[in-house]
Amino acid sequence: MNCELCGKKVGKPSTVSIEGSTLQVCSDCSRHGKEVLASGKNSLSQDEILRRIQKKREAYSSTRGMSRGDKVLALDYSDRIREARLEMGQTQDDLAQSVNEKKSVIAKLEKGSLRPSDELTKKLESSLNIELMDEYQEAPTHSSNDGAVLTLGDLIKQAKAN
Ligand SMILES: [Zn+2]
Repeated sequence: MNCELCGKKVGKPSTVSIEGSTLQVCSDCSRHGKEVLASGKNSLSQDEILRRIQKKREAYSSTRGMSRGDKVLALDYSDRIREARLEMGQTQDDLAQSVNEKKSVIAKLEKGSLRPSDELTKKLESSLNIELMDEYQEAPTHSSNDGAVLTLGDLIKQAKAN
C-alpha cells in the first residue's frame, strides 16, 4: 500500500492519529502523528467508511488538487508589487488609479495582508509589467501517475483495516 500522507510505497504502515483522523502512513510520516493501535475488529458501518473517504478525499484535494503547470500567487507578491511600483516612480495612489482600486487596497496588498483576486492580479501584472504568479511546484512523489493517488477501492480497504 501507499502511505496516506506522502504517497510513498510502504510495506508495513503505521497507524497514527493526525489531527483527529486516523491514517496509515510510512515510518517517516508516523513521526507527525500519534501512534494508535488498530482495533482489529471491523465495526465500521458503510456510512462511517464513506464519511472517512470523503474526509480523506477533501484532505487530498486540498494538498494535491493542483497539477503541474498550474500557477499560484507568488509568496512574495507584496514585495513584487511594491518594488515594481517604486521602480516606476508611482505612488500607491497612482497605482490604485491605474488598476481602479482604492489606495487602501494597494496598501494592504503591499503589506501582504490582502491577496489580490485573479482579476486584480492580472491588472497589477499588466500595469506594473511584472509576474505575480509562480508555477506550482509539485513534489515528484505526488505526480498523479505513479500510483500515489488512491482509488476508491484502496480507500475502502484501508478504512476497513482501521
Ligand atoms: Zn509517508
